[in-house]
Amino acid sequence: MKKTLILLLLLFGVSLSSRSVMAFELQVEPVAEAVHALVGEIGPRKPENHALNNTLGFVVTPEGVVLVGSGTTEPAARMIEDAVAKVTAQPIRWVVNIGVQDHHWMGNRYFTRKGARVIALQRTVDGQKQAVENHLRRLRQVVGDEEADSMVPEWSAEPLPGERAEFELGGKRFELLWPGGGHFPGDALLWMPDQRVVFAGDHVFHDRMLGIQPESKLLDWQRSFHRIEALEPLHVVPGHGHAGDLAKARRDTGDYLDWLVSQVGKALEDWKELEETVDELADAPQFRHLKFYDAWHRRNIHSAYLQLEAQQ
Ligand SMILES: [Zn+2]
Repeated sequence: MKKTLILLLLLFGVSLSSRSVMAFELQVEPVAEAVHALVGEIGPRKPENHALNNTLGFVVTPEGVVLVGSGTTEPAARMIEDAVAKVTAQPIRWVVNIGVQDHHWMGNRYFTRKGARVIALQRTVDGQKQAVENHLRRLRQVVGDEEADSMVPEWSAEPLPGERAEFELGGKRFELLWPGGGHFPGDALLWMPDQRVVFAGDHVFHDRMLGIQPESKLLDWQRSFHRIEALEPLHVVPGHGHAGDLAKARRDTGDYLDWLVSQVGKALEDWKELEETVDELADAPQFRHLKFYDAWHRRNIHSAYLQLEAQQ
């Protein structure tokens, strides 16, 4: 009798936990008046989260919704649409692309089919086109063939030239800026000067450790971060993690970039070898609160060393 009860409880527990895995939902976080962050998975990419392990956002205007980033696949785009619909009945009329990485723009087509217009800098579109094959291949590994086959990449039809574009959508002012590269060349940010909100894209990681990818340029990234600081935003919507303020962005991203540049730079000045440098810097308790510290920190020191060494 007791055994049966335990078994039933176990089964009940398993079914509950598997249901919670299946029911992955984006979190809608209010940021400022009419501005919301859409926080995806902070952990790894999985079929259940449709590889949507990043943060997007949206702005509600009287003329429609400005969506910042369109997600990965069609089911991910539907999830975004559902999350927006919980806040407003306004249609998504504009999709601003600030990121080159797949999860910031691969859902474009889902929204253009419904009449939305995609807005992006030429630089961002160039980066997206350059990375698309590689990103599709990786995405396929996560979501499987069926979901990946349903995806047709679509770029902004009229990309904006230069490094800065100002426009008004639904009566709200926006500036699309290219601060100088970082995580991926072509990554931009969206600034709302009146609300002092910055959608920083993959220039800023909150709650999880950033990863220096082969495409990332550490010194550019550090410089770009300082340009974001110079805007003096009140609210930062990061490319990954929960929305926060500038102090949080500094703690979780800016300080880490500065630390990597200064500490690895010093090791190079002292003619330390790569392995020695990684071992000596492997323990950085001030960044241990970040998710993926164990997986990424040593790797980041390694990448930083090779990049800074090549630039000497
Ligand atoms: Zn990203």
